[in-house]
Amino acid sequence: MSSEHATEQTFIAIKPDGVQRGLIGPIITRFEQRGFKLVAIKLTTPGKEHLQAHYADLSDKAFFAGLIEYMNSGPICAMVWEGRDAVKTGRTILGATNPLASAPGTIRGDYAIDVGRNVCHGSDTVENAQKEIALWFKEGEAVSYKAAQYGWVYEK
Ligand code: UDP
Ligand code: MG
Repeated sequence: MSSEHATEQTFIAIKPDGVQRGLIGPIITRFEQRGFKLVAIKLTTPGKEHLQAHYADLSDKAFFAGLIEYMNSGPICAMVWEGRDAVKTGRTILGATNPLASAPGTIRGDYAIDVGRNVCHGSDTVENAQKEIALWFKEGEAVSYKAAQYGWVYEK
């Protein structure tokens, strides 16, 4: 496998409950320790319109209004993480949407109980990751660098 495959990016967000509960550090630590590289990060309260765009696919769901209220209730820690298979592995690190169905050892399985307070977001496909990164970050806001640990994480 060539090194270009280690450049997949995913959008990970710590939701307002995760920020308020002091979980920014522990959540970042899980991605760092796995070997993924942080390439963009900011605390933001982007407003309802932006949040509705982020969750546009869910606009017909009964929980949509409550979801937007929840996401608009405080700062969100928006991040881009990069690495081999970052999208799928990011979802594995997050756990299932419903925290009660999430395995211990996952973020939701360790820190959450209710689906409407599940502390984090992660892109579900590479295509959606690209859309979400473009929605939350300006062009060039994600930095490009080689991590010092690269050769200790990847064979090639
Ligand atoms: N959600 C909810 N009730 C539900 C399903 C989802 O409140 O029955 C919320 C939950 O916060 C979830 C978000 O809507 O994380 C987006 O739902 P999705 O199905 O995309 O789950 P995710 O991709 O976050 O695992
Ligand atoms: Mg989703």
